[in-house]
Amino acid sequence: MKVPLACSESEEDHPPPLRGGSPGSRTPNLPACVDSIRSSPFPVPARLWNDWRWQMKNRIRDVSSLLSGQASEADVEGARRAAERFPMAITPYYASLIQKLDPRDPIFRMSVPQLDELCDPVYLRRDPLEEDRDMPIPGLVHRYRDRALIVTTSTCAMYCRHCTRKRVAGQRDSVLSPSSMRKISAYLRAHPEIHDVIVSGGDAFTMSTRALERVLACVRAVPSVDIIRIGTRVPVTMPMRVTDELVDMLKRYHPQWINVHFNHPVEMSAEASAACAKLADAGIPLGNQSVLLRGVNDDLRVMEELCRKLVRNRVRPYYLFQCDLVRGVEHFRTPLTRGVQIMEYLRGRISGLAIPLFIVDTLHGSGKVPVLPNYVVSQSPTHTVLRNYQGFLTSYPEPFAVEPIPIDNASLGVSDLACGRITKLVPGPEPGHHRKARVVAGSRRNHKRKGFAMASASSGRRA
Ligand SMILES: *Cc1c(COP(=O)(O)O)cnc(C)c1O
Ligand code: SF4
Repeated sequence: MKVPLACSESEEDHPPPLRGGSPGSRTPNLPACVDSIRSSPFPVPARLWNDWRWQMKNRIRDVSSLLSGQASEADVEGARRAAERFPMAITPYYASLIQKLDPRDPIFRMSVPQLDELCDPVYLRRDPLEEDRDMPIPGLVHRYRDRALIVTTSTCAMYCRHCTRKRVAGQRDSVLSPSSMRKISAYLRAHPEIHDVIVSGGDAFTMSTRALERVLACVRAVPSVDIIRIGTRVPVTMPMRVTDELVDMLKRYHPQWINVHFNHPVEMSAEASAACAKLADAGIPLGNQSVLLRGVNDDLRVMEELCRKLVRNRVRPYYLFQCDLVRGVEHFRTPLTRGVQIMEYLRGRISGLAIPLFIVDTLHGSGKVPVLPNYVVSQSPTHTVLRNYQGFLTSYPEPFAVEPIPIDNASLGVSDLACGRITKLVPGPEPGHHRKARVVAGSRRNHKRKGFAMASASSGRRA
């Protein structure tokens, strides 16, 4: 059994300091290596700084160059060990957003390895969403009937310490081969029920514009595909990549949506804001997928400020994810109640447009589950009692006559239980459902066997 290492749970680490960083503001307290890159006598000319290829080439990949002389030897050694397990890369741009070389700095926390990542409770997994098992062909995850996700590349501009796809991101730099792309195209054509294709990775925006265009053209050529969605963190970690050349290419593949990944208001710098504006001006609707991270954004006011900043930049908060049960993230995890509390706080306080859905992506590839505060207080055949965010209770009278809605025979779900068509539900005809039934049975046995380890790991979490 693996022994948990250095799970720091001290209350001093928490809650995070609230930052009011103005967009693009730089403090003099830059990491040593970024400072030396940017300051005289050999300043980096703006021409290079604003060149995304320069940013990619000059990513900080070595902990000691970042922390030398700024952190204790033990901290450097801990970071080095974590980086051996999960690769590190930080663009000079993203490193320049660090205001303090300290794990309490949100940018530092999301990008710099820490010894805490080696803490390894049994419930953390390599592939918690079991994406590898929902891959009918390499590079394509087909989990939900009408959507499929393409893993285009294993490269990202910055490797987030909280990444769910660590088994892919940064492992071997690889890009989808033309032959894999042909197989994906054939699969999409053979499955006309797929209407939404997500171009993901790694990060597709780290590819050359030409390579990305080959993927988009190939997907767009499938007549049954309605929308193309790109998931990218590049506008946050390397915004200079969003060039006119890239945007002009993207425009040719509408209808297209982009989901970005901002977690903290400090990330919305002047540069990131300009990158979002370019994409929005190209007619691409922007959504944001955040991850709820302890010590980064598990704070009511930080989350409120983030959501406000996003909508000001024409980015619609889409999902707020509970941290997945992937290895190396124990120090980032928050209790589910924290997410519910944040949702409770936001509703009524800020524009509905600025409120994301809080989502738990469940084990065994069972998919995304929204979790909300309870607003339905009670129900009778004639009335539903609702409460608003202030705690005000009202009743909603139900209509007299209700016609049943027509039944969709194509799929089975909880809605079929609700309309009385069925009285029990066994796993439905989604991809991988046979596997799910087996895995659930297996994990129950595991749970018993590892019961002690799990109980002791979780009881250590909070006093
Ligand atoms: C998240 C995800 C999707 C998209 O889900 P939406 O709820 O439509 O955003 C599609 N496929 C896989 C495998 C996913 O993990
Ligand atoms: S950009 Fe996305 S895929 Fe890449 S490391 Fe961050 S979370 Fe993972």
